[in-house]
Order: sequence, then structure tokens, then C-alpha cells
Amino acid sequence: MNTNYIFLTGGVTSSLGKGITAAALGSILKLRNLKITIIKLDPYININPGTISPMQHGEIFVTEDGTETDLDLGHYERFMNTKMTVQNNFTTGSIYKKVLKKERNGDYLGSTIQIVPHITNEIKKNIISKFKKKDIIIVEIGGTVGDIECLPFLEAIRQIALDVGKNKILYIHLTLLPYIITSHEIKTKPTQHSVKELLSIGIQPDILICRSDRKIPQKEKSKIALFCNISEKSVISLQDVNSIYTIPNLLQYQKVDDYICKKFKLNVPKANLQDWNKIIYQENNPKGTVIIGIIGKYVTLPDAYRSVIEALKHGGLKNRIFVNIKLINSQKIKSHNIHLLKSLNGIVIPGGFGKRGIKGKLITIQYARENNIPYFGICLGMQLALIEFCRNVAQLKHANSEEFEPQGKYSIIKLAENDKNKNIKIQYKNKKFQGTMRLGNQTCKIKKNSLAWKLYNSDIIIERHRHKYEINENLFKKIEKYGIRISGKSINNKIIEIIEINNHPWFIGCQFHPEFNSTPRNNHPLFVGFIKASTIYSIKKKQNI
Ligand code: GLN
Repeated sequence: MNTNYIFLTGGVTSSLGKGITAAALGSILKLRNLKITIIKLDPYININPGTISPMQHGEIFVTEDGTETDLDLGHYERFMNTKMTVQNNFTTGSIYKKVLKKERNGDYLGSTIQIVPHITNEIKKNIISKFKKKDIIIVEIGGTVGDIECLPFLEAIRQIALDVGKNKILYIHLTLLPYIITSHEIKTKPTQHSVKELLSIGIQPDILICRSDRKIPQKEKSKIALFCNISEKSVISLQDVNSIYTIPNLLQYQKVDDYICKKFKLNVPKANLQDWNKIIYQENNPKGTVIIGIIGKYVTLPDAYRSVIEALKHGGLKNRIFVNIKLINSQKIKSHNIHLLKSLNGIVIPGGFGKRGIKGKLITIQYARENNIPYFGICLGMQLALIEFCRNVAQLKHANSEEFEPQGKYSIIKLAENDKNKNIKIQYKNKKFQGTMRLGNQTCKIKKNSLAWKLYNSDIIIERHRHKYEINENLFKKIEKYGIRISGKSINNKIIEIIEINNHPWFIGCQFHPEFNSTPRNNHPLFVGFIKASTIYSIKKKQNI
């Protein structure tokens, strides 16, 4: 296959939305009948982001094959309606690991191992040889041009042009054009400097995508084109938008995909963006609003809950409801200030690790349970729902999780054992982190006539997981009589996957992460059901029923 490559770099600052730009571009090109994939290169030394706090780079996205990856892979999946794998994300650390292993094996006997060519060759190998049947591979390089860490990646993508031929390569640089309020001017200088920096390492961008809080006037476009040595048509304006789902349209309108297809001599039909137009219509024409609270501890960085936030919005699209999401710090919730939750029509407690912020989450769950507010507990949110139920309904005051109290008397949540049948593998070998993690796709059986069954409309489902602890089934059996039930179990019957409580309009806890499977075009049934229930709750609340 004659694969072409688009390399997307970022300049001036981070957080310009490189991931979303790559994903939107991938979506348009896929709609032109092209076979596309996207690879994300992360310049940090961690082998993968699995051990990094979500406060640093946002959530850890889990692929079907159980790889812990950068959150941008979530954008790729959502925009392109496709699945990513272990091959779509690699880090500097993983490259070094491979090279050092080869060195110890004697694969390079006699050589001094160097960044160029050994590290750069390994990077190139991971880009070029992993995907055989693609028309275009989009490669997003994490970080910002000018960072020390990025250099080996940039050197590798420069070399790829020599290896595969310049006609198969396109460089896109995403930059920021700041607007200076006092002088009423959009400034192009940072972009000029960023392009200079790229040129100094031998990369001349073909297209500049310029982020700005407003549309870029023609005068500035001409100036950028002149100073950055590209045609005016290749200066693309990416102004701030209310919805990320308008970006495929924005890029297509400026003919970015035409430019790419022309350059690669791909004679393919235009992209039909009717699905995106439908989504934008749904988004712009809601029939009502619900307020959903996400109660967590990483609330200052919404990207830490990116997939949950997007999945809630997808649930809103299907119901034609605007979902107003409030991120609430669980550490601020105490019994005396429960009013913080008063405005909410539905409550989500998403995944998480560790003890911090647990008390406020337990108070929240009790509030949702006792006041019939729709509750959706995801992974940790399910485990805590069970602890709350044990303590406040089943009269087991000391119920806890081994995660918070390793030698607790009543561990309703226990450390999952390392078990091949359960697909649990030891993740860390050193003592400090010794533990297990169950990752990726697992099959689950759903109990007939349960709420989950009605929503999924299926007996068997496959969902993605990322957890170390699981429900202690022996103890669960003892509390069932108080009004809690199992509605889903792993296919081998060994792990409880979904719980529901009786006498509540909508209370579901799941051990897996359904948010990773939701896309705007394939809204996830649990999120659709949750938003529907929250809408009903909000209407009843207004009518004081
Ligand atoms: N900390 C819990 C566990 O490891 C929950 C994990 C999660 O929410 N992803 O089981």
C-alpha cells in the first residue's frame, strides 16, 4: 500500500486542540472513503500514561485491547467512529525501552547507541511499519515545537520525508494568534517564530492552522503566508467555537482536505458531512436542559473527565436535551453543605483511585439514593455506592474497600486476585506498587428485565475496564435482602459488573467505563438512559411532584 503521512506539530503554546484537530481532519478524510489512522507520539519518559495523575495530561483513555493511552485517542475514536489500539500511541519512554532491550540483546553489537540514528530509527519504525493498509497516517506529535523532549520526534519525522519521498508527506503546524485587546490587533509574530524554529530543524510546514479567538482577517493571513513561506490558501483559520463538533465543517469549508488529497494525488469523492450537520442541529435545538453534577477530585481540569463529559453530551444529543455539566469537588461536600448538590438533576461519580475526597462522595451518594435523584456510579462510583448502601441501609457501619482500609473488618470491595481466568495481570512488579489491574474489553452477561438490560437491549455486552478492586461477592449475598441487586456479571460469573438498587427511579453502578465507548454518532445506552431519567426528574422537580 502506498501510505501517505500527515505530521501535525504544535507551536507557541500547548492546549491548542491538536488532538481534536487531528481527529476532525481524520473524520473528513475517512468520509472521503480513505483508510485513515492516527498515531499520537508523547514526548515524556513514562512507558505509558497509566501512572500519571489525570491532573497532568487529563484522563487516561483505555483502548479495547487494554492499553492505557493519552486522552487524544478518545477524540480520535469519537470523531472517526473507529477503534484505537496499542499501536496508536507511544512515548519516548517506550521507544527507549525497546532500544535498550535491543542493546542488551546484542542487536547493535559494536555500535555506540545514539539518539540519531538508534532512537530516531525506532520512532520511524513505530510510525511506518505498524499499519500496512492505510491511505493516510496522521501523526500527532505531543508537546510544542521548541521543547527539548520533542526533538528526537521532529528529527524522525524530518527523516521520514527522505525515506518515503516528499510527495508522500505533509506537515501541518498548529499555532496560536493572540489578540491584543489594547491595540485591537491579532499578532502573528509568535507564529513566525514557531515556524522559524521548525525550519531550523529542517521542517517547512505545508499548512498552518491558526487558533485564534476570532476569524483571522485576510491581511494577517497574507502576512503569515509571506513570512512563513507558504501559500495564502494554506493559512487556515481555526477560531474558538462553541462546539468541537463544528470543526470538521470549519476545516472542510477552508478546503484543507482538498489540499491534502491534491498533494497526495488521491482522486476521491468529497466528504459528506451530513452526520456532523445533524449533530450540530441536535446540539443547537435542544428541547430542554438538565443539570448534571460530576463529583470528583480532579475538577479543576475538565480534561481529567473528558470521556465522561463527552458521553453525557452524547446522551443529551439523543434526548435533544442540553446537558449543563457541573464539576464539583468532592472534598468540599460535607453533611452541612449538601445545598451544593441541590440544583442537580442527575449525579455521576466517575472512576478514580485513592482515598482523597471519598467522604464527600459517600455523602453525595446517600443524598442521591434517599432523594430519588438519578445516580450513575462508574467504577469507583459503583464501589462507593455499595459502601454507602452497606453503611446506611444494610447496617454494616464498618463496610469499606481494601483500597482505603487494607485490613478492614468488612471489605465489601476487595483487591482483585491475580487470575488468568479473570484476565487480571500484575501491572507493577516493585513492592510499592504491587497490585493488579484488569484492563480493556471484558464480556459481561446482563440479567433479564434489569434496568441495564432494558437500556442495552441485549443479554451480552462488551465494555472497557480499568480497575484493581472488585466486589466481594460472598459479602454481597448478605446485603441483597436490603434492596440491592446484581444486574451484570462477567461471562465466567466471577466478577460483579453492574449493580442496581430497588425502589429508585435510576440508580446504576458499573465496574467498567462505558464512557470510552460513546461517540456522538453512537450514543451509549447507559448515558442516554441516564439523561432521560434526569430529564424526567427535573420536570417532576419543577412541578413539585
Ligand atoms: N480504584 C478503584 C479500583 O482500582 C476504581 C478504579 C476506577 O475507578 N477506574 O478498583
